[in-house]
Amino acid sequence: MSDCIFCKIANKEINSEYVYENDNVIAFKDLSPKAKLHFLIVPKKHYDSILDIDDEAVRSDLFKAVQEIAKKFNVDESGFRIINNCKEDGGQEVMHMHIHFLAGEKLRNSIN
Ligand code: 5GP
Ligand code: ZN
Repeated sequence: MSDCIFCKIANKEINSEYVYENDNVIAFKDLSPKAKLHFLIVPKKHYDSILDIDDEAVRSDLFKAVQEIAKKFNVDESGFRIINNCKEDGGQEVMHMHIHFLAGEKLRNSIN
């Protein structure tokens, strides 16, 4: 999608602080972090929301990214939180599917 900010970041047309990449997925730092570590894990291909992902390899690589980022940033023992905001009621603002990965501190015992 030509006017999608996360497509541009995923394609490296706009630079970002990348933290991880695999075949179908890339991850970068959130512009306004809500935790010491706050990354966005996105499919390289554009999907509006999690409901649109129809490719088994992409589904698999999203979970692989979560597991490998946890290890890479040494939070696989201490823990982390992942969030997907889906569509309007879910609070999705950027309409390119992404998983928030939050870690690096004790997060409030709340989902938001
Ligand atoms: P959503 O509400 O759609 O789940 O979250 C969108 C997230 O994208 C927000 O946490 C916001 O800070 C982040 N964000 C929006 N624009 C940019 C950008 O241009 N670069 C980066 N790195 N993050 C962005
Ligand atoms: Zn996109």
